[in-house]
Amino acid sequence: MPITGGCFCGAVQYQINGRLRDAKSCHCSRCRKAFNAQASATALVDPAEFRWLSGESLLSTYVGLHGYGLQFCSLCGSTLCTVCEGQVFQVSLGCVNGSPDIEIAQHLYVGSKASWEVIPEGVTQYIEAAAPEAGWPHTR
Ligand SMILES: [Zn+2]
Ligand SMILES: [Zn+2]
Repeated sequence: MPITGGCFCGAVQYQINGRLRDAKSCHCSRCRKAFNAQASATALVDPAEFRWLSGESLLSTYVGLHGYGLQFCSLCGSTLCTVCEGQVFQVSLGCVNGSPDIEIAQHLYVGSKASWEVIPEGVTQYIEAAAPEAGWPHTR
């Protein structure tokens, strides 16, 4: 069964003919705003295995510094995925349907978490990045 996902209103739907990899949560101030939450929750996908099933024309794209961007449903605002040069390489776990076979392995930038967030005990935490990383730029 392929992994599927979609936005809050249901207009945008996608399918992944492969696996989710390297799930992480970033608590930096940029991710808090971009994902409308205490942190991001994302996983990597192989761009070749990702395809839109519906609503691709409804996507709104914000490309920031370094050429990395986010794509949203223009109707409901769900942050669906991260793109580089138009290719989807990361998805927001909150928009993935069902119970995919993956767990968040790393909590990044916990040194910049919101004052109101309580990080659960026992999770793997890093004050900033775990390792040098290409992609969506994070900041304290
Ligand atoms: Zn939507
Ligand atoms: Zn971040």
